[in-house]
Amino acid sequence: MAAHDPVEQKYVYDFAEGNKDLKDLLGGKGANLAEMTNLGLPVPPGFTITTEACKAYLTTGREPDGLAAQIEAHLESLEREMGRRLGDPDDPLLVSVRSGAKFSMPGMMETVLNVGLNDRSVVGLSNQAGGNDRFAWDSYRRLIQMFGKTVCEVPGEEFEHALDEIKRAKGTHNDLDLDADDLRGLVDAYKQIFAKHTGREFPQEPREQLDLAIRAVFDSWNAERAILYRRQERIPADLGTAVNVVTMVFGNLGPDSGTGVAFTRDPGSGAQGIYGDYLANAQGEDVVAGIRNTVPLQELEQLDKTSYDELLGIMARLEEHYKDLCDIEFTIERGKLWMLQTRVGKRTAAAAFVIAGQLVDEGLIDLDEALHRVNGAQLAQLMFPRFQLDHEFEPVAKGIGASPGAASGKVVFTSARAVELAAEGESVILVRRETNPDDLNGMIAAKGILTSRGGKTSHAAVVARGMGKTCVSGADELEVNVPAKKFTVGDHVVNEGDVVSIDGTTGKVYLGEVPVMPSEVVQYFEGELDPENTDDALVRSVHRIMTHADAARRLRVRTNADTGADAARARRFGAEGIGLCRTEHMFLGDRRELVERLILASGEQEREDALAALLPLQRADFIEIFREMDGLPVTVRLIDPPLHEFLPPLEQLAVNVAVAQERGEDVAKEEALLAAVRRMHEENPMLGLRGVRLGLVIPGLFAMQVRAIAEAAVAVVRDGGKACPEIMVPLVGAVQELETVRAEAERIIAEVVGDSGVEVLIGTMIEVPRAALTAGQIAEAAEFFSFGTNDLTQMGWGFSRDDVEGAFFWRYLELGIFGISPFESIDTDGVGRLVRIAAEEGRAARPGLKLGVCGEHGGDPDSVHFFHEVGLDYVSCSPFRVPVARLEAGRASITTTGSDSR
Ligand code: PEP
Ligand code: MG
Repeated sequence: MAAHDPVEQKYVYDFAEGNKDLKDLLGGKGANLAEMTNLGLPVPPGFTITTEACKAYLTTGREPDGLAAQIEAHLESLEREMGRRLGDPDDPLLVSVRSGAKFSMPGMMETVLNVGLNDRSVVGLSNQAGGNDRFAWDSYRRLIQMFGKTVCEVPGEEFEHALDEIKRAKGTHNDLDLDADDLRGLVDAYKQIFAKHTGREFPQEPREQLDLAIRAVFDSWNAERAILYRRQERIPADLGTAVNVVTMVFGNLGPDSGTGVAFTRDPGSGAQGIYGDYLANAQGEDVVAGIRNTVPLQELEQLDKTSYDELLGIMARLEEHYKDLCDIEFTIERGKLWMLQTRVGKRTAAAAFVIAGQLVDEGLIDLDEALHRVNGAQLAQLMFPRFQLDHEFEPVAKGIGASPGAASGKVVFTSARAVELAAEGESVILVRRETNPDDLNGMIAAKGILTSRGGKTSHAAVVARGMGKTCVSGADELEVNVPAKKFTVGDHVVNEGDVVSIDGTTGKVYLGEVPVMPSEVVQYFEGELDPENTDDALVRSVHRIMTHADAARRLRVRTNADTGADAARARRFGAEGIGLCRTEHMFLGDRRELVERLILASGEQEREDALAALLPLQRADFIEIFREMDGLPVTVRLIDPPLHEFLPPLEQLAVNVAVAQERGEDVAKEEALLAAVRRMHEENPMLGLRGVRLGLVIPGLFAMQVRAIAEAAVAVVRDGGKACPEIMVPLVGAVQELETVRAEAERIIAEVVGDSGVEVLIGTMIEVPRAALTAGQIAEAAEFFSFGTNDLTQMGWGFSRDDVEGAFFWRYLELGIFGISPFESIDTDGVGRLVRIAAEEGRAARPGLKLGVCGEHGGDPDSVHFFHEVGLDYVSCSPFRVPVARLEAGRASITTTGSDSR
């Protein structure tokens, strides 16, 4: 084969060659400048150097072959078009060199303006500007300043000091009072600063300026603040930035010039109108620097009506073209309008919903696209009360934002005190090192929960989310001292009764009361606000998009609820059944003692007595829930507590016994109890006697629950109601476990339901990796699977769900081992693979096997998309996340070509 030159990669695109869909290659700014150019809008001519060139440079440390020549060719054609040469002494072309990555990273990377100015072309620029020396020297000093700072790392303050110095000498605070001579002097001062820091003169060769500026923009991709921003915003680290070389236009040529920014709608509320700021006789960086105050864009109408009308026309055109809110930057040079940037603008959660609704009304997008334009994270934000942080409040600690919302109240350290104070009408924040199921009453009574230990799936977090209650967990700067009824954080000591405020979204903890505002979106979901009859644009839009999501989605959405009240709320929020009723939550309070007796029973009689006492209580629990759900499926999970949650604490017991012995008291009973607790003590309770194992070890326990479920269903049906129970066995790892439980359950059900017509399904959780891997066998004995992704993640990764998030995940996140906690969003490659295998093999063994998920991931937006794709029938999540899951299930079902508005 004959040798031939490889086709040279194209690294430089003229604006006329690109379009808005080439953001990967040209970055957001470049792609949109190209789009505007092709729309015939007034964009200063220029070209874009691709992200590919940047990536090649960042990998090898030098510009890729061919780049220099391509830049030369595009520069020449730009010079031809403009009829000027870069840096020409008589009539110079000047350019700006601007960064522009695929995703907007505001202010994180670099820009250099006025490239092409030097000691000679500064005179040419003055001539171009009609002999405006002041303007020319001001432009030159700006170049040295920006170039020095950006390209050569000269400390920016040195330039600012020199400027302040001149202003002081002149007795003014205003840059505009400096005349041409002052600025010429400033250029000399700047050049000296430049030479002092770089050891060389300021480069006079225009092409060298250009090349160095381009390189500096490439390098700025890896500036510390850019790296930090990407991590925060989850922007991939390997995208690189494009570089835009744009003909300079000047907003600082006099009162008929200026610069501004504008939005086509209010990015805060979504309201239609004209939103923007304008600064006459200035360049863009003056607006950012806040040297002079901008005026509202409307005032431009008085200053320059022609440009104002043209701008409004362009904004309308851009909205129609992008079919979305756009933000723009523009400059007016002596009465001529130039568009310097546009992009689909960032917006608040509320504005996202309102604008999507408006665009449908305007016929610009359809409802599928509107659904695509909003997301569950935004909806979740709109559902929680928020702090009004307009006053100055400084957080004293930061933990994990475990359950969103904003809560203020008096600090209490025990559940009992929480209940007491709440009964007196006080708002309380329950503060614990960590919570356990015994704290439930306190958690219910409290406005919010604050713990110094534990992660997003710790007990406190899961339960709080279930209740829609604000929770900050793992705030490890807090030293919580329960017996002393105080906590310390830094120099502060907070005693019982002192007021704190916690933000469950940000994890921040404040001293004192921060005011909150309620959410109208929750009022709507609660049925307190009629969407057809409100002038609240947000509520109307949320309603419309939710209705469409419900129509579009394939996944059904159930809830995790253990009480009638939770079940009722979840139904109002749109739940179509209960996917997980955790029965262990029903064994707290007064009943705890019965369970303790059951577990520690020394004889059959004692055990049977305890079971007989529990049966009617359980039956009543289920009747309440079945009634609330009125014929919707209710999955009741047989009891699954880690054993230690139901036994008296070993150490406490041992101390009590020792003290009593010392006093010579009769401790025979306590000793027997201590021996039993010792016998049952486990080093790893989460891997110990829990779930199905407990049911197989303690005779009669599961049987009592099955009977209570079946009897409750029959009672509801006989009363004219409907009940659709599904019994779920937890922590199954082998089909034999399930078969054993099933055989007994079927016998009891047959006995109880008789001819009532009640049907009870029996299925299992898939939450032990072995169960996922033997799902084909397990499906033989199960009518449904529900994936317990909390335990599946815990056991799949070998991460203790109660400890690791607070302990070391920060490091894993920092290292990029994962981008988000796998307890929060399903790890699709690993844990998700187990789900996929089990779903496929389960369905192969039993076509029609019902599949759902009830781990915390069931309400996580990204995870919902995964479960849709894997083919599950439903997701189940805490009541407050039901609307989010409905929305995301709808979004997962639609396909659209719409834009990514990040
Ligand atoms: C799970 O493990 O995902 C689950 C739903 O069960 P629990 O959180 O109660 O262990
Ligand atoms: Mg579990």
